[in-house]
Amino acid sequence: MTSEPLRILAIHAHPDDETLYTGGTLAFYAQGGADVSVLTCTLGEEGEVIGDKYAKLVAADGGADQLGGYRIHELTNALAALGAGEPQFLGGAGCYRDSGMLGTAANEHPRAFLKADAETVAEQMACWIRRIRPHAVLVYDEGGTYGHPDHVKAHKCGVRAVELAADHADPNDDVIGSSGVALSSHIEEGSSLQIAPAWDTPRVYCIMQSERRLAAGLDAIADHIPEAWKLPSTAELFCTADDDTTAVVELDEPAYLSKLAALRAHATQATVHVPEDGPVSFALSNNIAQPLLHTEEFRLIRNSH
Ligand SMILES: [Zn+2]
Repeated sequence: MTSEPLRILAIHAHPDDETLYTGGTLAFYAQGGADVSVLTCTLGEEGEVIGDKYAKLVAADGGADQLGGYRIHELTNALAALGAGEPQFLGGAGCYRDSGMLGTAANEHPRAFLKADAETVAEQMACWIRRIRPHAVLVYDEGGTYGHPDHVKAHKCGVRAVELAADHADPNDDVIGSSGVALSSHIEEGSSLQIAPAWDTPRVYCIMQSERRLAAGLDAIADHIPEAWKLPSTAELFCTADDDTTAVVELDEPAYLSKLAALRAHATQATVHVPEDGPVSFALSNNIAQPLLHTEEFRLIRNSH
């Protein structure tokens, strides 16, 4: 037996997703001594900003298009709260841009993540996997939680990246990916990153949210949300069939408080409500209330050992 710590890598499309979907799990394992890290694919430039203070950072309506840079700051603070290290961006910060929801103008931006060559993206992710050598990789579900095209792409490319990283046919420095691009060409210049040998990630988990637990959470917050917020049905939120969940992480108080702190760090994206006599809820810019649950759920989709 070795004493090396467990390593967990979460692959996410936008700053805040690491907290919303996996924050409690990352904090829980980090607090237990694991090395947890997050790879973020875009800067979340198309996020809808809450409040006036930073509203003009967005690209739309002649705004400054600096929301992405600002969100690096939010992500940095969120990751610190989770114990998940420094931000790490696929291809370097700014390589890919938030594609926005399907059908929006942001889909056509030259750097839109949606438009990037999927195999190249997977190879870039594979470089990170070989470097980090995670025992578990966390990705969105196939449907990209609520269907954001960047989430769907991050799922597809993340799953492919695990395969590429494990490909023992090209284990060394001059590794050539299947699209003919040398994996090493994607490593950030000037960094100490080296192409590592192939790494067969033992386990890959997709993010789940059982309808049963979500419904119970919504019931619990119903009488404790701010007046301006709307209580949704489970159908209006990301949720999955109860039976699809194969792993549940029960957040203890320290992990839960870390997730809460991380969510507060994403203040342009989420507002947190902590009532004196009821459970914690939060809302994005749409003012739709969501429970901040004490569980995070996953589905094991790869178990190579
Ligand atoms: Zn997202």
